[in-house]
Amino acid sequence: MQIPLIKRPPRDHCTRCGTCCRAGGPALHREDIAILLAGHVGHRHLVTIRAGEPVFDPFAEAVRPSPQEMIKVRGRGGEWTCCLYDEKTSSCTIYEHRFLECRLLKCWDPAELAEVAGRDLLVRADLINPGDPVLELIELHEQECSYQKVEELWARLSTKGEEAEALAALRELLRRDLAIRLLATREVGLAEEYELFIFGRPLFKVLEPRGLKVFAHGELKGGCTG
Ligand code: SF4
Ligand code: SF4
Repeated sequence: MQIPLIKRPPRDHCTRCGTCCRAGGPALHREDIAILLAGHVGHRHLVTIRAGEPVFDPFAEAVRPSPQEMIKVRGRGGEWTCCLYDEKTSSCTIYEHRFLECRLLKCWDPAELAEVAGRDLLVRADLINPGDPVLELIELHEQECSYQKVEELWARLSTKGEEAEALAALRELLRRDLAIRLLATREVGLAEEYELFIFGRPLFKVLEPRGLKVFAHGELKGGCTG
């Protein structure tokens, strides 16, 4: 969830305008696990933000690498709007059971939300049974496709003489990211609706705003544009 901090509306109560829900779903905290266990929200509603992934920090009003893994309620239809927000009724479909950040959010006074932001966050391992084979795939994915590797290669794209090698390695990294996702669905039987929770957003999607494009046959084009 992002707080509309830039221009705070002149109000002192929630008018349920939905602006905050359209800006993105909340990050989940340990106390939110009860909401998941009760079945109000499932893994298919969640997306993992991996450590180092570029995310918008509403307090800094800037895109920054996420300092830690976190689980968020995902968006809908390629937009950031929280998938639990009902546009027709302008309301939260789980209002009575909404998450900690949603309960604390006051767009006119972010102090309470700021107090919990980044603290006691849930991670994937909290929501997966021990021994589930998908845990090994998550580990493999983190080892081979970490954002640390992405950023190292990204920096080399701007280093004279290393561009071609770095682009080839980046291409391989993006290919591996997709290959591990495919392995999970085809070999381990992971339902596609859980992919964003298990592996987070595909790397090619995350890198698109920087001017890199992956074509259907796996070719990567572009350069350091941002
Ligand atoms: S808290 Fe969210 S829904 Fe309520 S008035 Fe502020 S932006 Fe609108
Ligand atoms: S869970 Fe409900 S209150 Fe929270 S962002 Fe989504 S729609 Fe809004």
